[in-house]
This record gives sequence, C-alpha cells and structure tokens, in this order.
Amino acid sequence: MTDWDRVRRLMGEDGLSRLASAHVAVVGLGSGGGFVALSLAMSGVGRFTLVDPDELEAVNLTRHVADSRYLGQNKAEAVADLIRHRNPDAKLTVIKEDILKHPEALDGVDLLIVGVDGEGTKYRLNELCLARNLPALYAGVYARGEGGDVCVIKPYDGPCYACWAAELRDGMGDQTGEELDYGLIQENGALKGEPALWVHVTRVASAQADLAIGYLLGDSRPTPPANTLVMANAPLEIIAGQTTPAHSGVWVDIARDPHCLVCGDRLRMADEAMSLDDLADMMFSAPPDDQAHDTDTAARRLEDE
Ligand SMILES: [Zn+2]
Repeated sequence: MTDWDRVRRLMGEDGLSRLASAHVAVVGLGSGGGFVALSLAMSGVGRFTLVDPDELEAVNLTRHVADSRYLGQNKAEAVADLIRHRNPDAKLTVIKEDILKHPEALDGVDLLIVGVDGEGTKYRLNELCLARNLPALYAGVYARGEGGDVCVIKPYDGPCYACWAAELRDGMGDQTGEELDYGLIQENGALKGEPALWVHVTRVASAQADLAIGYLLGDSRPTPPANTLVMANAPLEIIAGQTTPAHSGVWVDIARDPHCLVCGDRLRMADEAMSLDDLADMMFSAPPDDQAHDTDTAARRLEDE
C-alpha cells in the first residue's frame, strides 16, 4: 500500500489527481525510458502504455532499473512489474513489440516519452505524434555520458522532431549567434552509442521525467525557459569556444522550420502531416510538363510556391 502523503503535500490534491488521471506512453524501456517510467509512477502518474520488443540482458544490469531477477524477461514487462510494486493502482498496458507495428497504442495518450536511440524510429514517432497532436519528450545521451539533451516537442507549436534534429543533430545552426559544437554526432545524425555510467544516463532521464511532470501539471508549474535543455555531466563544449561546467546546462530554443518537409505550413494545408514517402508520391504525380525527379527539386518547388 503506497502512502502518497509526501507527494500530496508537495503538489496538492489537485496536482496528485491530475497526475493520477494522466496517460503516458513510454516507447523504449531501456536505461533512460525505464527510469522515466518508474519515476513518473512514483510521482503519481496513473496510467502507462509501455512499449519495447527487447529482453533484459546481462549487459543491461549496470544501467537499468530492473535487476538480475528480470533477466530474459521483456523490458516493458519488467518495468511494469516494478511499477506495480510502487503504484499498485496504476493502469498498465504492455506491448512487447515494435511501436511501428502498433501505432494505435498512441491513441488517446496525453504525453509520449521517447526512450529509443535510433533516429529512424524517432522520425516515425514524430509523424505519429503530429497525426495525433501528441506532445513528446525526446532525450539523448552523448558519448561516454559526458552530457545529453532533452527536448519538448508540441505539434505545430514550435519545432517537430525533424525540424529540431535538423538543427541539433546535423550540426547546430545559428540560434544564439554562436555555433554549437558537439563532435559527437555520426554521419547519419544518430548519437554514438558508447559506454556511459548509470548516474550520467539517469541525470538526463531525470530531467526528462521532471519536464514530463511539469507538462502534465500544466499551468501550476513554471514554463521551461526554452524547448531544449543541453546538459553537461562533465565539462562540455556545448557552445563553441565556451566550456559548460559539469553539473550544469544550457537552455536553447530551437525554432520550427516553416519549410519543414514533415510539419511545414504547405503540408498542413492538406490537413494532415505527411511522411516523406507521401510527399514524394505527391510530387511525382505532378503534371507531366512539371515533373520533379528528386526530393531536392521537390523541396525547392515547395518553397517557391
Ligand atoms: Zn518540422
């Protein structure tokens, strides 16, 4: 039996009941997502959809909320069991498959926590969120756990994940008049998967969980100063030429790209978010005298119109 006294005293009966009625989906129950799901349950969030196709392996034990008792079990199922021991009233839906096979799992959800690493899956989740007007919190941990970032993506209110990643994952644009310098990004835009300590992963995940609670509590919590928090676990050159000390961070506001191929204005006129495949289909079915033969040309035409 869980006694919620200390949470209730902090956020009041109203806040507690708001969290109890909230439905959060967590896609990817690894080191970060598992920590966020359990933390939200311990803060009073009452309903979860947990999605992960993978099983807990020995290599996960140094950085996962589930311990050796769960070896060989599905990660979403393991985290669901841990949640039951903290918040027995929580309503839990467990999906032990890829989210892309079950997009309907995101219907009616209030907030999505993205706990996957692959940029491809993040892009697909972005499209699913735009189609449902579903806000999402993405997090990434940098090489060796030296830092990480968390962003709040609200459909059509600020950048979508594609706009955001074009700025932060492909080399930082000119947000502050200074250039962000990571040197940690692979050619395909994904963060390098390298060893990192649990304390450093969960520091980023803790910020993701805290921002989630703030979002779910709404007006009663201060609005974050920007849509992206870049955190330094070790001294880190977040802004070129400046070293951000360990245990601190920098807030950065990433703007929406009005010409974004996923959330851009032109496409909203079609009254739904389009995938790049849809866009290609639309462009390639243009009148014969005006055929576009590559997406670059298609994008330019889109901007010209
Ligand atoms: Zn966009």
